[in-house]
Amino acid sequence: MPDRYDVIVSGAGPSGSWTALRCSEAGLSVLLLDKREFPREKCCAGGLLHRAEVLLGPRADGLPVQRRIGGISIGMDGQTYRWSTGELGSTVHRSELDNYLLTLAERSGCETRTGARVLRIRESEAKVEAMVEGKAIEADYLVIAEGTASGNAAGTLGPYPRGGLINAAAIMCEGDMGWGESAGFLLPGRRDAAIFASAGARICAAFPVRSGVVLSTVSGSSGPSLIKALEGVARANGLMTNGKGCCHPIAVRPRTRLATDRCLAVGDCAGLASPFSGEGLTPSLASANDAAEAIIDRSRGLSSSLQEYERSVRDRVERAQMIARITGEALHLALRGRWARSLLGGLERDQAFEKAIVSVARQEKGSQAFLLGMLPRLPALLASGAGG
Ligand SMILES: Cc1cc2nc3c(=O)[nH]c(=O)nc-3n(C[C@H](O)[C@H](O)[C@H](O)COP(=O)(O)OP(=O)(O)OC[C@H]3O[C@@H](n4cnc5c(N)ncnc54)[C@H](O)[C@@H]3O)c2cc1C
Repeated sequence: MPDRYDVIVSGAGPSGSWTALRCSEAGLSVLLLDKREFPREKCCAGGLLHRAEVLLGPRADGLPVQRRIGGISIGMDGQTYRWSTGELGSTVHRSELDNYLLTLAERSGCETRTGARVLRIRESEAKVEAMVEGKAIEADYLVIAEGTASGNAAGTLGPYPRGGLINAAAIMCEGDMGWGESAGFLLPGRRDAAIFASAGARICAAFPVRSGVVLSTVSGSSGPSLIKALEGVARANGLMTNGKGCCHPIAVRPRTRLATDRCLAVGDCAGLASPFSGEGLTPSLASANDAAEAIIDRSRGLSSSLQEYERSVRDRVERAQMIARITGEALHLALRGRWARSLLGGLERDQAFEKAIVSVARQEKGSQAFLLGMLPRLPALLASGAGG
């Protein structure tokens, strides 16, 4: 391992490997490090929206896909509402996805080292230094891609803002919801209200994989109560849990800072996940693209700082997170109690809703406006569902 690189990337999850690949393809010398040996497990439900696949370009063709997702089902009190949207994305097993991206990074010429933890980062005017295995390695730039629990990001860039962290849990189940290739979402109707309430959870995703279904939920509650709730949902739906389930914090607000003069944070480490769904893979890959571009521009003398990265990520992500919060809250409110059935009935017949789902999954132009535009229509949808 040489003592100096153009770029060091700490963390070989999707955001780190993709940043490393992009920088390496631009001709920069890159060292990609991860504290774990690969393939490694990562707590995740493995839902990969079409918009995340698009960011991978032609490399999406080699993705280790478990199942293609071709629709949405929403289940409540044993009744199912369906939307056959066509291609929305796929499900993946995270150890396979992350190993695939790490292999792509290696093939692009980047040097990789697993089982190598970055213990400390020190930045000066002329360089940045990473302490790895008792040795200081220097670089012009360092990308922190260490996930939510990164001590190096907290030390270099400051904390997540208040309310920036929530918990997400997932559990692998054997069996079938009978929803085919749909991504499913279970809502707490009368039957399951107590299960959801015990975990403060409002919605539970059910993603089909080759060997069964992955159940997942997001909430401010503790890990054990979330996993217990997922086990309850599995039992209530005739699924057998397979393994213990996992829970991990996800960051749904960007850190105080996202870049210094020579360091920047990408992916979960930056705090970019959706506060509504916990989706973090799209923002991980998008921030990796932005980070690589900022570093490439700066190393070619086309820009004088990494602050453009901070600006573009904040602009895009803070707005997306705010819209996810507003629409999420409105939907949760509308889908509570006795109105839920009427609204779901109305939405099931509503072509604009189907289009909104597709447009968000594909990140079409104007998809956020489309989503916000649904809100004033909720009363009419309620009425149409109640009459149906
Ligand atoms: C239960 C759950 C379900 C989820 N479901 C979905 C979903 O269905 N769809 C979706 O889009 N998103 C989902 N997410 C979010 C998604 O998992 C994350 O957004 C994504 O993993 C972020 O990728 P990353 O590369 O930023 O970080 P990570 O994948 O966390 O990778 C960070 C890497 O850094 C390494 N590392 C950490 N510290 C160091 C160090 N000091 N030195 C070297 N290496 C280090 C770690 O070993 C790890 O490999 C879910 C999250 C949870 C918790």
